Amino acid sequence: MPCAPAALASSLRRGVPPAGSFLNQELAIVTGAVDAMVVDVQCIMPSLANVAACYHTKIITTMPIVKMPGAEHVPFTLATADADAERIVRIALEAYRRRDPAKIAIPQAKSKMWGGFSVEAILGALRAVNAEDPLKPLVDNIAVGNILGAVATVGCNNTKVVQDRAHVELVKALIKENVLVVTTGCSAHALAKAGLMTPEAANYAGPGLRAVLSAVGQAAGLGGPLPPVLHMGSCVDNSRVADLVSALAAYLKVPVKDLPVAASAPELQHEKALSIGTWAVALGIFTHLGVVPPVLGSAQVVKLLTADLEGLVGGKFYVETDPHRAADGIIAHLRAQRRKLDL
Ligand code: SF4
Repeated sequence: MPCAPAALASSLRRGVPPAGSFLNQELAIVTGAVDAMVVDVQCIMPSLANVAACYHTKIITTMPIVKMPGAEHVPFTLATADADAERIVRIALEAYRRRDPAKIAIPQAKSKMWGGFSVEAILGALRAVNAEDPLKPLVDNIAVGNILGAVATVGCNNTKVVQDRAHVELVKALIKENVLVVTTGCSAHALAKAGLMTPEAANYAGPGLRAVLSAVGQAAGLGGPLPPVLHMGSCVDNSRVADLVSALAAYLKVPVKDLPVAASAPELQHEKALSIGTWAVALGIFTHLGVVPPVLGSAQVVKLLTADLEGLVGGKFYVETDPHRAADGIIAHLRAQRRKLDL
């Protein structure tokens, strides 16, 4: 493979930010400013060591089941974590000395974001509105329709579709209809790059949602509205979303399957995304997929996933590749859920 891969270098010249999701990992190296990249077990491009070989960058693997030619292996264990981390930093420092100034190209594209909305942080913000009963403001605003419902957008980028488009267009369409969005994983990267995790993004929200975001932001002393898209962590942090949904269900004394909530993986790609999606469906959550999973070989499996599962576990998959039609389908589901709760 020739060095300075042309397509990647030209992406950087066009100002594509190297920080980002799964799909941006090679671009980070092509800045020439990465001294070491540490990987563990998944979502690692097989080409990484080849790209890094064109630069001073060291690729470091850490898990016994993932080693690759051209990478340096530093076994990482919890018991030896400090020493392992020091060894990795020393490798990076050594590589730094070999940086080639002629190859450094750091794009100037920047985007602000507010992150760190764990369940505790969300409840903390709501506690500023009602210290004794923090979920009440959220539930009350759902009940009166200021918030139509909540959707978690999760999952990957997928090379079969235009990067980030489905994530961003779907979420803009949802918040415009007063749907509160929480997000994790590569979906969060897409939405952060689009500026949707800032107080200013509340301007994209419908009037009801915007009023709630402003009131909570003011009460919590944030100096502006809460972002309409709350970043809850990486794709292995979806359990936080489940904790929030379960707390809401317990508060309302209804099963999760009856809440006006949904999940969406607009660009699913990784097998982990499919298993997380199946887990969401098993929790009783209506789960949108924006890329058709490889199940069309069996009509029986398709029927089970998109219809019959609902009768068994309460949730089901909803497949729609167009983000605007997907937003319509999700909103129709939220409205139907509200009707079931007499809202
Ligand atoms: S969201 Fe998908 S691509 Fe991104 S890290 Fe998770 S599994 Fe990998």
